[in-house]
This record gives sequence, structure tokens and C-alpha cells, in this order.
Amino acid sequence: MLNLDKSIQLFNDASDLLPGGVNSPVRAFNSVGGTPPFIASGSGAYIEDVDGNRYIDYVLSYGPLIRGHAHPAVVSALQAAAARSTTYGAPNPHEVTLAKLVREMMPNIEMMRFVNSGTEATMSVTRLARAFTGKNGIIKFKGNYHGHADFFLVEAGSGVATLGLPNSPGVPSSAVADTLVAPFNDLEAVAATFAANKGKIGALIVEPISGNMGLVLPAAGFLEGLRDLCDANDALLIFDEVMTGFRCHRGGAQALYNVKPDLTALGKVIGGGLPVGAYGGRRDIMEMVAPIGPMYQAGTLSGNPLAMVAGIETLKGIQDEEVWEGFAEFGRILDDGIQQAAKKHNIPIQLNRVGSMQGFFFNDKPVTNYTTAATSDANRFRKFFHLMLEEGIYLAPSQFEAAFISTAHGPQEAARTIAAFERTFAQL
Ligand SMILES: *Cc1c(COP(=O)(O)O)cnc(C)c1O
Repeated sequence: MLNLDKSIQLFNDASDLLPGGVNSPVRAFNSVGGTPPFIASGSGAYIEDVDGNRYIDYVLSYGPLIRGHAHPAVVSALQAAAARSTTYGAPNPHEVTLAKLVREMMPNIEMMRFVNSGTEATMSVTRLARAFTGKNGIIKFKGNYHGHADFFLVEAGSGVATLGLPNSPGVPSSAVADTLVAPFNDLEAVAATFAANKGKIGALIVEPISGNMGLVLPAAGFLEGLRDLCDANDALLIFDEVMTGFRCHRGGAQALYNVKPDLTALGKVIGGGLPVGAYGGRRDIMEMVAPIGPMYQAGTLSGNPLAMVAGIETLKGIQDEEVWEGFAEFGRILDDGIQQAAKKHNIPIQLNRVGSMQGFFFNDKPVTNYTTAATSDANRFRKFFHLMLEEGIYLAPSQFEAAFISTAHGPQEAARTIAAFERTFAQL
């Protein structure tokens, strides 16, 4: 058994001070049970908790740390920037450097605005799309997560597409009255939603590769079909690449699948572990943003020099083709090892993988949308999760989260992880 004495003590104190003992609900162990380890430090592919337990980290702060924890280039850039003051509330040169780098990697982003989180990026980009089209209706997909803005907190009903009902108290039904929900990978349902709401839909927002129902890839032609439907209905196509941006491919899902969104939301990797988000896209749309246009959006700490240099050093580290070959190689080795262990112990498992993102489900059928993801075996996952933690493998405490690797994850970590899967599957 893991010794978690200090974590348990901290969790008791935290639970008195912070709702659920955490500052973001995904970190709590509600769905798997037990106490989350409190992390004291991280280095490369590893994190260490306050009791001295060491883990190979496949969460990486839910995506941002694509170069691993405390990468020396990121740390030294941060130290140098901090010594020049942490914020000015005035333009700084790093904003220009990061913006150039982002546009070079994602040329569809002709102009952009930096914000402080993915939630801010998706919230602001939707305001912009509504301002530009003059239409309030938005289509989103069941099981796609776009942050916690009111109008995204919608539960999908069954059937083709359902008019949204708020799934959090505190969200007024008026806030979600214009949010329509369709099943992922179902173009017919999207077409029907457009048809049933003619002239009302300003934008469709999608995680082009869904990472918030576990990892689910778009079916062949799905993203192209969304592009066509948006064009046919005078609606803007928004890719929420907060997770996929710079994780599935150097240029995001839009480069990987060669589909051009009008607007893109970014977060996570773009800040290299500091709070950054961005939204951007077509110049004619972005020129609506204040101060050159009437769409108001602002931020005291946006473009903050610390956050910008962390983003710059992080993106610089994933430019070379070898980096992406390394991710693919690591993924192949891991998948092969997991498949073999699963076969040997007769455990039905589905593996999805792209770039530096992995997903696995205890399921005997392919997972293609939220409904199929939800049929995965939650009890088995719960047991599996705790056994893996004891093996020193840190995964997200939910089957509906993707796993992430970094440039610091190498053959040694792959071998240790596969051995842990092997021993764990033997006990399931
Ligand atoms: C994480 C995430 C968000 C929200 O980003 P935060 O920085 O947590 O606010 C939005 N969209 C997607 C696809 C995400 O994965």
C-alpha cells in the first residue's frame, strides 16, 4: 500500500478550506475513491508527492507540460523574466514572439488575442462569432468540453439534437437557450440541427479530436462535413484546440486533418504550464475585437510576460520532426505492450492514440462518441486506477480523460509502464 499519510493530513485541512479539497473538480478522486496525493515537485516525466512517492506522470497538468516538468529552458526563461517584473499592464515584446510562433504553426490564425485560460478563450471566441454573424445559436457536441462558461454547461438529451437544458444549478435557462447539442461523429444529426434552426446558428464549436470523453478520434470525413455544413448555413466553424493544439500534431488537428476552421481556441500547451489561452483566426473576424472593433474583451494579466516566455520555450521544443516521431514511437510501444497484456489476461480494452495523446477504455466495442464512451466499465477502471497508482503510474482519476506524454517520456518509462499494466491486469 502507498503511504499517503501527509497527503491525507493535507486533504483534511484542504477539505475545510476548499470545496472538495481542490481548486478544480477533476483533481478530486470522487469517481475512483480515496485521497489524491498532494504533489511536492515534478521533474521531467516524474512527479513526487509530499510522502515521497514517485510516479511517472501521464496527466502532465491535463496537457500543458509537453516538455515535461520543470524543463530547464522553461525554468530559466521564467527566472529571467520574473527578475524583470512579473507584469506591466502594457505591451511587452514576448507577446509578439509567441504570436508569431503560433501563427507560423497554425497559419489559419491570422490574428489572435491572448487570454488566461481555455475557458476564457472559448467564451470569448463564441462572443466574437455571435458578434460577427449576428446570430446567437451555437451547436456543440455531447461530451465535448469547452470550459465552464454558462452557455457551454449543457446536457445533451437523447435523439438527434436537443435544445439544451442547464446541467449546473446557477446557469439560467436563458443562458443556454441558444445552445444546441449534437452527437459527435454524426453528420446527419448536425445537418438536422441546422435544418431545424434555419438562419439562427452563428457558429459550430467542436473539439476536432475529442479529449474530454476519453480520447475519441473524428471519423473519416466528419470534420470536412462540418466545414461544408457551416458554409452551407452561413455559420462559423470554431475548433476548440485547447487540448489538441500542439498535442496531436505540430499544427494541431487543423493541420493533421487539413480542415480550415474560421476561428480557433487555444490553451494548455500554449502556456507551457502557466495560465494562458488564446483565440484567433480569420483577420476579417478578428478585426471586430476591441480596440479596433466593437466586440469587447479584456484582461489585466493577459499577455503576461511570464506566461508568454513559458509558452515560447515550450513551443520551441516541439518544432523538430524527431519530437513527433518520438511521440509516435512511444505510443506504439505502449499500445503494443498494453494490447499484449490485455490479451493475456482477457481484458477487453479499446486504445485510441494521436500524437502525444492516448486514450484507453475498458470496453469491448470501439469508442466513437459519448454514448459509447459511457458504456465503458467504471468499476474495473476504479480498481485499475488505484493499482496503477501503487505501481507508481499517475493517471487521471477518470476513464473520460486523455493521457498525455512529454518529450521527457522515454523507453525506460515505457517499459516500466507496460510492466505495471501487466501486473495490474493480472489482478483485475
Ligand atoms: C481544458 C479545456 C478547456 C478549458 O480550459 P481551462 O484552461 O481549463 O479553462 C476548454 N476546451 C478544451 C477542449 C479543454 O480540453
